[in-house]
Amino acid sequence: MAIKLQLHPEELYDNIHELVRMAYPGQELLRGDDERGELEIFLERFIKGNSVYLRGSIKGPEVDIAREDSYPQPEAGEESRRQLSRLTRRFIYDLLAAGQDKELNSYGILTGMRPVKLVHRLLDQGLDQERVLESLGADFRVNAAKARLLTEVASHNRPAVASSRLEPRALALYVGIPYCPSRCYYCSFPGGILRDYEQDIKPFLAALYCEMEHMAAVLKDLGFWVQSIYLGGGTPTVLSYGDLADLFERLHRLFIGPGTEEITVEAGRPDTLTPEKLVLLKQAGVERVCINPQTMNETTLHAIGRNHDLKGVVQSLEWARKAGIKTINMDLIIGLPGEGLEDNRHTAEEILRLKPENLTVHTLAVKRGSTLARMEGLSRLGEKEEEVHRSVDLMAELFKKAGYQPYYLYRQKYIKASLENIGYSLPGFFSVYNIRIMEECQTLLGLGGGAGSKFFNWKDGSLASFYNPKNPSSYCASIQRLIAAKVDKLRALH
Ligand code: SF4
Repeated sequence: MAIKLQLHPEELYDNIHELVRMAYPGQELLRGDDERGELEIFLERFIKGNSVYLRGSIKGPEVDIAREDSYPQPEAGEESRRQLSRLTRRFIYDLLAAGQDKELNSYGILTGMRPVKLVHRLLDQGLDQERVLESLGADFRVNAAKARLLTEVASHNRPAVASSRLEPRALALYVGIPYCPSRCYYCSFPGGILRDYEQDIKPFLAALYCEMEHMAAVLKDLGFWVQSIYLGGGTPTVLSYGDLADLFERLHRLFIGPGTEEITVEAGRPDTLTPEKLVLLKQAGVERVCINPQTMNETTLHAIGRNHDLKGVVQSLEWARKAGIKTINMDLIIGLPGEGLEDNRHTAEEILRLKPENLTVHTLAVKRGSTLARMEGLSRLGEKEEEVHRSVDLMAELFKKAGYQPYYLYRQKYIKASLENIGYSLPGFFSVYNIRIMEECQTLLGLGGGAGSKFFNWKDGSLASFYNPKNPSSYCASIQRLIAAKVDKLRALH
């Protein structure tokens, strides 16, 4: 079905198109004079006197509704633009929900990746927990269960967010190694599959080391220091023992200092780990590693193209414990092909037996370009929404009962059933890197393939993003340009 949008002024499109798409997924949106469209959505906003007026209607084969409302005009300034946008989004959300006679989205008008940031903003404005809950429901249409989840996450991670505000020169460092031993079927990361170690890795490391040397000199010059490090990818543990040792020698020389609180290494694929590599990581100061089974069902592991079995997961965890790594994170995915509620229950129970300090529960985001999207089709994967919801609730219940606390949360496009990814932790093992990056309250400097940087301006709270190419060859070819761009952005913060 095509949907015709009649918007006055036309710029309202930016405010509302995500909500319309949420209400009518997969439908074509037409604008302007296009005469096609079985459904017509009309929205008008204008200011008269000291009031903002909104008028809207939906007309189609099975719906014919209209509404209008007026609100006091917000004061001038950035906050007023936000309020105007919120009023408009809430108005159209209510209209769309009335048109379908149901709650459209458990997160209401919040369509962004980081809904917990809003809770922090409301707390910063002086609202207490109760008033934040009220505001999430009344102003943003978030349902009661999600509002409780968001405030719970914010209450756990607020100390790390607040203390970051005391350290304007502290930053987080991400180093991306964009290679994996094989491609998992649900993954669309366009990094490299490791085929020839010498030909693939060596030129990449040369470019990375060049970027590290340059950026370290600039950080020193500008007085920045590194508070946390995340070595991600890809799978950084595809590096040989010798190259991992070399990389950490450089990280120590260039970035790691007395203020560095936390170093995490993504060791997601057990097929890249050895006891020796884990001892090396521990000796290099790594206190957190991620060993990611995704599921504890052997059949699914094979079905999603992971090159390892469950024995490999358990063995890697034992090696990491033996090496003395303090915090183990394990990633799980709900909504994998062929899995239902009982499979997820099994995974949760098996994971709890292993007692990792951190757990990250993802809801499958089927990305275009992944093997899984090609194999199953995006629409078929959307059919299990109800089961996915029940599995998310079940895992939350089991993990909370076992003492885990939700401490960061993010949403992403293509995620199943309008859900979220949640980081859980036993008390005392929260990852400060994850919290500060998720809540965007600190500069993130990304080096290496596919690494994202976020430059946080303390004066006005704004963020500027910059991304290194994910493809390793493009990264190597553009290294001087990447360095120059990031140096400029860091200097602009000074
Ligand atoms: S290990 Fe991670 S980055 Fe690598 S292919 Fe699998 S999901 Fe993608």
